[in-house]
Amino acid sequence: MRPRIALPADTLNEATNIINERNAAFAPRPAIEAVVKSGGVPIILPSVNPEDVRDYMPLFDGVAFLGGADVDPTFFGEEPYQKLGMTYLKRDLFEIELLKQSVTAGKAIFGICRGIQLINVGLGGTLYQDLSQDLHATLKHNQMAPGNMPSHHITVDPTSRLHKLIGDRPYVNSRHHQAIKDVAPYLKVTARADDQVIEAVESINSDQILAVQWHPENIFKHYEDSKKLFKDFIDRSEKVAKKARGAKAVK
Ligand code: MN
Repeated sequence: MRPRIALPADTLNEATNIINERNAAFAPRPAIEAVVKSGGVPIILPSVNPEDVRDYMPLFDGVAFLGGADVDPTFFGEEPYQKLGMTYLKRDLFEIELLKQSVTAGKAIFGICRGIQLINVGLGGTLYQDLSQDLHATLKHNQMAPGNMPSHHITVDPTSRLHKLIGDRPYVNSRHHQAIKDVAPYLKVTARADDQVIEAVESINSDQILAVQWHPENIFKHYEDSKKLFKDFIDRSEKVAKKARGAKAVK
């Protein structure tokens, strides 16, 4: 069986002709396609009460935290700054609990855009609520170029897992107005833009977590680098699945 990949859902806030109701759970199609094309089985998880997260845990091997609204700053002890964007408390509560249980259970974890921020906050780090709070952040991180084209370079730590996948100086897309400020204890920074904005993190001393600030799913078709990130995630999830099967066989 292919590794099962949980995609915690975003929430469509507007009524549509088909779903005559607000708050539909969805995952972006490019992320679903990237998981399928990389050999995983995508499973969309709607936000439920955090107490019910444990019932989701046996259903997947890896989890990808995807893009979406800003993380509520109260999770890192701050009141909302003027330039904070839309937030959605229910998703944050659900995803932070899902993250914590996934870390404990040894699941493979991948983060994209909001995902890297959510992972950092969930593990005890903080964010710039808007990049205007970071006086060194001078580059354009909310590109006007189409989302499937790269717009700025990043420099990757040569000792990192990310470096093995995509090298020194990849060209990435950029569609974020927030970024990591203080890095969570469980994580290390593995890539930065030239203005020092954090663009990737990994778990320390393990291959459990890899998260990026850009959107590899949007450039998946055209850029080999993006394919490698998803392939690596599915491979890590496959390892988790094999381990679980081994444990079952021993029982
Ligand atoms: Mn950027």
